[in-house]
Amino acid sequence: QSQELSQARIDYHVALQALQEHGTRMVCTGKMHTDRICRFDYLCYCSEAEEFVFFHSNSSVMLPNLGSRRFQPALLDLSSVEDHNTQYFNFLELPAATLKFMPKPVFVPDVTLILNRFNPDNLMHVFHDDLLPAFYTMKQYSDLDDEARLVFMEGWGEGPHFDLYRLLSSKQPLLKEQLRNFGKLMCFTKSYVGLSKMTTWYQYGFVQPQGPKANMLVSGNEIRQFARALMEKMNITRVEEVEKDGGSAEDEKEKEKKDEYIVVFSRSTTRLILNEAELIMALAQEFQMRVVTVSMEEQSFPSIVQVISGATMLVSMHGAQLITSLFLPRGAAVVELFPFAVNPEQYTPYKTLASLPGMDLHYVSWRNTKEENTISHPDRPWEQGGIAHLEKEEQERILASKDVPRHLCCRNPEWLFRIYQDTLVDIPSFLEVLKEGIKTKPSLKKSKPASTVHPGRVREPHCHTSVQTTNEAKLTVSWQIPWNLKYLKVREVKYEVWIQEQGENTYMPYILPQQNYTFSENIKPFTTYLVWVRCIFNKNLLGPFADVLMCRT
Ligand code: UDP
Repeated sequence: QSQELSQARIDYHVALQALQEHGTRMVCTGKMHTDRICRFDYLCYCSEAEEFVFFHSNSSVMLPNLGSRRFQPALLDLSSVEDHNTQYFNFLELPAATLKFMPKPVFVPDVTLILNRFNPDNLMHVFHDDLLPAFYTMKQYSDLDDEARLVFMEGWGEGPHFDLYRLLSSKQPLLKEQLRNFGKLMCFTKSYVGLSKMTTWYQYGFVQPQGPKANMLVSGNEIRQFARALMEKMNITRVEEVEKDGGSAEDEKEKEKKDEYIVVFSRSTTRLILNEAELIMALAQEFQMRVVTVSMEEQSFPSIVQVISGATMLVSMHGAQLITSLFLPRGAAVVELFPFAVNPEQYTPYKTLASLPGMDLHYVSWRNTKEENTISHPDRPWEQGGIAHLEKEEQERILASKDVPRHLCCRNPEWLFRIYQDTLVDIPSFLEVLKEGIKTKPSLKKSKPASTVHPGRVREPHCHTSVQTTNEAKLTVSWQIPWNLKYLKVREVKYEVWIQEQGENTYMPYILPQQNYTFSENIKPFTTYLVWVRCIFNKNLLGPFADVLMCRT
């Protein structure tokens, strides 16, 4: 901090003059407050008022210039959670001339990323809402590099996972409460405000019941790149990778087989598995593998990641700790357990993660369907699922219900009551579900990432036509391979042709292995057909259509 201040002092007069002359400049991306990130020169923060300040001068820029729409409802979301009304960002405005009457500003020389953490106490939220979005926001703006400064404005303390936030850059992140230590007026030389929502896959149920986001834009590749970067920062090398050196291929296969293991992630305070030892024995017996347990209470986070990154299967009760499945190797299985009366289909943050394209994880859920195997806690405080505070009738209704109805976040007492139950896992039904779910044994560990290279447009599409009789005609379509195909080894190349009679709103689709075809069925003389052609690699990698052909018979 002292070094930073002295560094700031070197340029102090230059900086102060720049601020006074040019004021604040802001240029943003995004049409809506929900997809906006803003870049500022000389954004200031007044710790007394707890407000950011934009200083207007003749050369200030404010783009978008929304006028008072800036407050409808806000300039941008400061957290990655969409349109949450406690997470809005805005600033106050002042003329730069008022700086003369204000406390001397302290300048922050680092390029700064300003954001809100959404729920830093919960590991799932830490990764999904903060770490992944911050990591990729920093990738988006190259001056947000390893030297960048992060500032968390949500107002919480460090929280239990602060070490994870520290991995994002080499500089200590600052909390809102610490900003006042820098003086009454603090000005960020260069800053970005807001977080990319590109990587988030789950919505928590603030406006509709929780579930996968409507438009997911992230794939397993980006999640895995992030995981790898974090592991490097934590000084973790995958066991698997270390052992690659030396030994014949056969030896290696043997070794890998021997080294396959299952991880049971155990919770030790709430939502317990009551017969964990029995579950572990059953897993070891069934899969003939070692089973190791990890828990947040007993291990450091890096040591947990170390273990998970080499696992064949991760078994855990539903809960935030399951976010660590993003460190599993490709081909591994995620097995999520749900307490009595909780429908796995309605709570899918980890299923959605495991199912992202290219994540290459198997996902299986098991649900306790035997009421006698659940231990509930009606007398606990409401936030741990207690229901004693509710009216007798409501308590009875909850106790009689065998399925939590769909609900919104975050304080539904029936949901909290059920999700905080402890469970005696019924081993036969558990193994049944597991065997059914992982038909292809979980030793797909070596699974290679599938190619995601898409075909280009087919080139030089042509059609020519001929009329046979008054009701017979032929339409021949031909094309050249996409340009990128000649550089690729593709298992299967097919072409899709759509033929639409002009003026009709249906079309006939054809899949063809070759580069030309003569259509005669359903082709009428003296008719105009619109023809589209595209290439498909390996059944599901679709290319773009070439320009439409107009073919007159
Ligand atoms: N937690 C834990 N051990 C426990 C219970 C919870 O480490 O026995 C952690 C959990 O991983 C999460 C936080 O405490 O980071 C909050 O847990 P909670 O049950 O409230 O949330 P959930 O796991 O349902 O997301």
